[in-house]
Amino acid sequence: MAKYTPMMEQYLQIKAAYKDAFLFFRLGDFYEMFFNDAIEAARELEITLTKRDPGQKEPIPMCGIPYHAAANYIKILVEKGYKVAICEQVEDPKTAKGVVKREVVQLITPGTVMESTMLTEGENNYIASLSHFEDGSFVIAYNDLSTGENRLALIEEGFEAVIHEFYNQPIREVVIPSTLPEGLQSQLQTRLQVTLSYQDEVKFSAEYRDLSENLNDERLMTAFSRLLNYVQDTQKRSLDHLKQAEIINRKNYLSLDMYSKRNLELTETIMKKGKQGSLLWVLDKTVTAMGSRMLKKWLERPLLHKEKIEERLDAVSAFYEHFLERDTLRETLKSVYDLERLAGRIAFGNVNARDLQQLKVSLEKIPGIRETLNQIDQKEVVNLANDLHYPEHLVALLNESLVDEPPVSIKEGSIIKDGYNEQLDTYRYASRNGKQWIAELEQREKQETNIKSLKIGYNRVFGYYIEVTRANLHLLPENKYERKQTLTNAERFITPELKEKEQLILEAEEKSVELEYQLFLEIREKIKGHIPEIQYLADIVSRIDVLQTFATVSEVNNFKRPSFSTEKLAIKNGRHPVIEQVMRDGNFVPNDVELDAEKNVLLITGPNMSGKSTYMRQLALTVIMGQIGCFVPCDEAELLLFDQIFTRIGAADDLVSGQSTFMVEMLEANHAISHATDKSLILLDEIGRGTSTYDGMALAQAIVEYIHDNIHAKTLFSTHYHELTSLENSLDRLKNIHVRAEEYEGNVVFLHQIKEGAADESYGIHVAKLANLPETLIERANLILQQLEGEQKETKAKEELPASDQLSFFVEEKRETSNSRSENNPIDTKLIKQLQELDLFDMTPMDAMNTLYQLQKEAKSTK
Ligand code: ADP
Ligand code: MG
Repeated sequence: MAKYTPMMEQYLQIKAAYKDAFLFFRLGDFYEMFFNDAIEAARELEITLTKRDPGQKEPIPMCGIPYHAAANYIKILVEKGYKVAICEQVEDPKTAKGVVKREVVQLITPGTVMESTMLTEGENNYIASLSHFEDGSFVIAYNDLSTGENRLALIEEGFEAVIHEFYNQPIREVVIPSTLPEGLQSQLQTRLQVTLSYQDEVKFSAEYRDLSENLNDERLMTAFSRLLNYVQDTQKRSLDHLKQAEIINRKNYLSLDMYSKRNLELTETIMKKGKQGSLLWVLDKTVTAMGSRMLKKWLERPLLHKEKIEERLDAVSAFYEHFLERDTLRETLKSVYDLERLAGRIAFGNVNARDLQQLKVSLEKIPGIRETLNQIDQKEVVNLANDLHYPEHLVALLNESLVDEPPVSIKEGSIIKDGYNEQLDTYRYASRNGKQWIAELEQREKQETNIKSLKIGYNRVFGYYIEVTRANLHLLPENKYERKQTLTNAERFITPELKEKEQLILEAEEKSVELEYQLFLEIREKIKGHIPEIQYLADIVSRIDVLQTFATVSEVNNFKRPSFSTEKLAIKNGRHPVIEQVMRDGNFVPNDVELDAEKNVLLITGPNMSGKSTYMRQLALTVIMGQIGCFVPCDEAELLLFDQIFTRIGAADDLVSGQSTFMVEMLEANHAISHATDKSLILLDEIGRGTSTYDGMALAQAIVEYIHDNIHAKTLFSTHYHELTSLENSLDRLKNIHVRAEEYEGNVVFLHQIKEGAADESYGIHVAKLANLPETLIERANLILQQLEGEQKETKAKEELPASDQLSFFVEEKRETSNSRSENNPIDTKLIKQLQELDLFDMTPMDAMNTLYQLQKEAKSTK
């Protein structure tokens, strides 16, 4: 085996502890990667792969990136789900004996990034830990390192519920014990597509004692320590901004399973995975990044308790009515920076003076915000105002210490105001004074030598110098100037006098820059003590922002405040909040919904594209909007408080998990049936589509019956099986409704209006026509349809199936309409009667041809 150099030995030793990360090994101005890391990084980052010691028998693959450009490369890797271990030289190479000591100073992972360039403004970046216990329960702990937020959820309903819970929050990385069963590990990976990390140490470090004061359950402690230990291990620094863990009591929230969250497109659309077109897209008119994050959290966990919801609604109403104050407030909030993340970065130690300046500007807005809120004079709003404690001392400190427009760098001075520190002022005086003296010297020298172009300059190598062009050299007196540097056209000199001043100036400058840095660190340290205050303010400001946003979107979109009932749900002229936006032209047709204990299952029929799915979704979205405390899209709404919403909507294949539509359909239906209560809302959209007609119909009917008889959940059930409408006769609490469409000159016209009773036709072929399928194909389909309907009519009549009423009703009605349309023309009526009486199945083709000939002749004669 080849023997490695001591440095490579060091590399290998460190790498052994970070097997699942790219090791960025600092060598001078570069981070180098070796072996497999190098090969993979070269591919992922599209950088050149080279070799170390190419003379050797087995040269080592290597690639490197300049350290100052590292952030971009790290970002690429972390966004792809990789981890990056940053290994720095931790002693001065000049004084080091042998190989410079190196250590990993930070492990950057998808869930623990702090750099603002790698974070999305209005979004949280959660890392979670999952712990399993002998009693079958699980605990998830969440942390957002950038904001300091910690949350815990105990789950006692099994692993499937864990997946659903994870689905509630965007997470990028899950920390698990190595003992978590393989099967569960791979489910986490495939179903959630997260980076998995391991942490088996669950001892609670004393450092975090006060973060866990409110925890009285061993299991919660275990999960929380697993997470904190991992974060501590990766970050290797103080994390003073972490907040006490909030326990998510899942029973306090409307629960949405992962299917519903996805199907209802609350925060992103199914097809494009983007915010545009989601409910969040309509609602998120927040002004601050923190507000945007809070809105998303509210949307992910709608409330269950009436009082809490009414509290929010009261505030929203107040903001709604006080639109002038709301405008002022929005304007002020625009200049409030992301206090939550600023607090995180202060604790983390990666803020510069500009960030602190932003902090100051933001905090200075607090009194103004308070004042505006107080003008609104409504209980909830005034409470919010009272919670905005102005951190006077902190602002004073920032005001006294920082200049208004500091540079990005914290190591080059020009950060601290004059008058803040006496010592600094002395240095500055010396340096400024010296510079003044030099300016005067330049004037003096010009006069004495009579050289107009003489100037005094400065560079890092030679310090201050007097520069005289070659043409003027003869004007200089002998012996006074000492030659320092020769240029093509000029000579540079110094004098003892200049040398002396230079020393004073440089010393003062060097010392003042150094002192400024120290002072900056001191200030930063002082601000650390205020982090909880800043975080509290951030929380209140976010709330204010979300509440005023609800008022704003409600005003713009004409949403109305809902009331809550325990008896019935009644929505007048309800609309779909997203589709109405997309249509824009005001063409959205509003519809009513009514559900109560007597009628809690609505069976919806109507042609394809008529608006069945839209109607169902709009109900769910309205319910959710109401339960997060926002106004709702309608003229009037009395809502019920739902504990859970289940959906089976749309025919989107679950491509990610590779399951068939039908399988997904059945999984979702099963999930609803096994978890719903009489306080739940179930939406089943065209269930049974993914299998053969009879299978599908049978399953659909059985599912409706089961929900009707056993669950009593409020249910909307749309179907293209007209046969199911006869269920109204056997199920008491089921009511038929349909979406109206009309046939006009052989085309279907969608009215999108919900009416009582069952629909009469499926109009499928008309829709195909709208989609511009070839004319001949449409004709052929119509012919097949007539035949099928003919056959069905016969068999059904014979077997006396109950559903036959339905079909004969349909045929009968068609007759009626045809008759009524041609009432005025006796010849038309006669022709139609003849046509109707033909028994096609009893005719030979020749007979048919002859009859058709006769009929056409008669028809032509009437023209
Ligand atoms: P279905 O589920 O009955 O096939 P959808 O609910 O998918 O029909 O609706 C089809 C299209 O009809 C929608 O994309 C929308 O453009 C339009 N639509 C649905 N409901 C309405 C409505 N109430 N007002 C106006 N247009 C509507
Ligand atoms: Mg549909």
